[in-house]
Amino acid sequence: MMEKYEFKSESKRLLDLMINSIYTNKDIFLRELISNASDALDKLYYRSLTDKEVKVDKEDLEINLEFDEKDRTITITDNGCGMTKEELESNLGTIAKSGSLSFKENMSQEDKVNIIGQFGVGFYSAFMVADKITVTSKSIDSDKAYVWESEGVDGYTITEGKKKKNGTEIVLYIKEDTEEENYSKYLQEYELKSLVKKYSDYINFPIKMEVTHHELVDEEKHEYEDHKHEETLNSMVPLWKKKKEDVSDEDYNNFYMDKFSDYDNPLKVITSSVEGMCSYKALLFIPSHAPYDYYSQEYKKGLSLYSNGVLIMEKCEELLPDYFSFVKGVVDTEDISLNISRELLQESHSLKLIAKNIEGKIRKELEDMLKNDRENYESFFKTFGVQLKYGVYNNYGADKDKLKDLVMFYSSKHEKLITLKEYVEKMKEGQDKIYYASGSSIEKVNSLPQVEKVKDKEFDILYLTDYVDEFAITAIQKYEEKSFQNVESGDLDLDTEEERKETEKVNKDNEDLLKDMVSVLSEVEEVKFTNKLKSHPVCLTSQGDVSIEMQKVFDAMPNDMGIKAKLVLEINSKHPISKKLKELYKEDRESFDKYAKILYSEARMIAGLPIDNPTEISTLICDVISK
Ligand code: ADP
Repeated sequence: MMEKYEFKSESKRLLDLMINSIYTNKDIFLRELISNASDALDKLYYRSLTDKEVKVDKEDLEINLEFDEKDRTITITDNGCGMTKEELESNLGTIAKSGSLSFKENMSQEDKVNIIGQFGVGFYSAFMVADKITVTSKSIDSDKAYVWESEGVDGYTITEGKKKKNGTEIVLYIKEDTEEENYSKYLQEYELKSLVKKYSDYINFPIKMEVTHHELVDEEKHEYEDHKHEETLNSMVPLWKKKKEDVSDEDYNNFYMDKFSDYDNPLKVITSSVEGMCSYKALLFIPSHAPYDYYSQEYKKGLSLYSNGVLIMEKCEELLPDYFSFVKGVVDTEDISLNISRELLQESHSLKLIAKNIEGKIRKELEDMLKNDRENYESFFKTFGVQLKYGVYNNYGADKDKLKDLVMFYSSKHEKLITLKEYVEKMKEGQDKIYYASGSSIEKVNSLPQVEKVKDKEFDILYLTDYVDEFAITAIQKYEEKSFQNVESGDLDLDTEEERKETEKVNKDNEDLLKDMVSVLSEVEEVKFTNKLKSHPVCLTSQGDVSIEMQKVFDAMPNDMGIKAKLVLEINSKHPISKKLKELYKEDRESFDKYAKILYSEARMIAGLPIDNPTEISTLICDVISK
């Protein structure tokens, strides 16, 4: 019986793109198929350790490669776990398994490739070189074998097959050559051998192929005969077990891209080999960009855990703290036994020790990068810095001391990212506070009224533009004995004695005016004249622990806890508006009230807070300007 299926429409579009070869590198199809075969062998072996019914001799597990130049076929066979009919359908019937995929009209080919790359289209990359594929598979959980067959976008069929032994056999019918592409090269022994060597050398199972040897049969007559021998093409030494000197950057990059389905080289490779209290080898990578699902619930952190070369867990989350959740990699140790249960693993002392070491190693590498490779570090920080800042304030700041020298903020003076250490080192003489200002972008912070004056006095200001920033800073509390000062809140104490006295006097002389303004505005805690503004008429600041930026974060939370900043409206005492207010207060109370409301709305707008009564304010403004 033959069943015919269509690909889901999204998969169809993806497949279309694949076939029309938007990947420039077609070579990767082989490593994708070999990698799947290797996973299937891993799965079978692991199953045999935990399930008495399944008996496997590790020595027997292998991947076979065959090619036939005449028939134009390549066959990849493994004796792994195989797939049931349902698995064939669900694994090979949808391409984009996770998330929804939508290409925008004006997206470049390159962007599309990048998106596709992130969905791990592994198996389907074979359609770049083949116009027909058959997959014959027998699962260890089924008595029957099934054949999945497809010629691309039109869909696929599934029929019963004859395979007796468990495992999967994939036949690729290689495309005819075109003017641009030479597909026939994939039907050459030399090409296949070098592709395996290049991309799949570290694979843990032998990849075998019949290879032709020229054998000298008669030395005198120089006579040769061709003999076929089965040869194992890969060295089977996992990359992390090789000496660092023996591995090229390209090897690391290829391994990373294959294993972690990335289309880009990693930003940094970290290797670690530890003997002692615990022994392990680790090969870690910092990606050069965030995975597409990094900031979603679906993203799972973790490192692949191997017990002496055998994969025991794909993503062991205990090996990474949340603030390093972006790190990918493998850890191989003899200290954890192969058939350890999930529960025991979590409690394992060795695992905890390894995790602690790895955390330290990653941190040290990042510190070194910051010191010696600034450009790369900044690029890293732009991608994953938010995660580090979360780390600073999570767990009530328990990890802040480990991370505080790794976080960076934009500096108004240097116009780039700097560390807290760099800020403190370059502080002005007599400066005892670290100034900062918050807002949603550098431009917005830059145009805050209060910022202008502080910059004018040549103090450096850190611009906090991520919403975690202010929480991180609150958690750090003090850096090298210097506390943090939000230039938007409180008294900055930047004035000379004379200026201070002058401001004090204006406020005292106009006590009644200010009090009445508070009662007109009701939402503010205080209204005062200030000397801290240069050209702007007003600004909004806050008293106490909750700043305006923090209030915005709280406001945006789904369960509004009603945490509000205590607002202070500050009026520039040197601005003509101050004089105007004083006049109106004496002569025209009605207009005074209107002015107060308009100025308060202006201050809210500049601070990025919503105006609750826009119609009323708009009417007021019209009243005033049409006078
Ligand atoms: P990925 O490997 O990234 O999950 P693929 O499209 O390459 O995506 O493969 C889809 C799924 O099909 C795999 O996750 C696996 O479950 C299954 N699969 C592919 N090849 C094999 C194989 N040789 N043996 C068993 N299962 C396989």
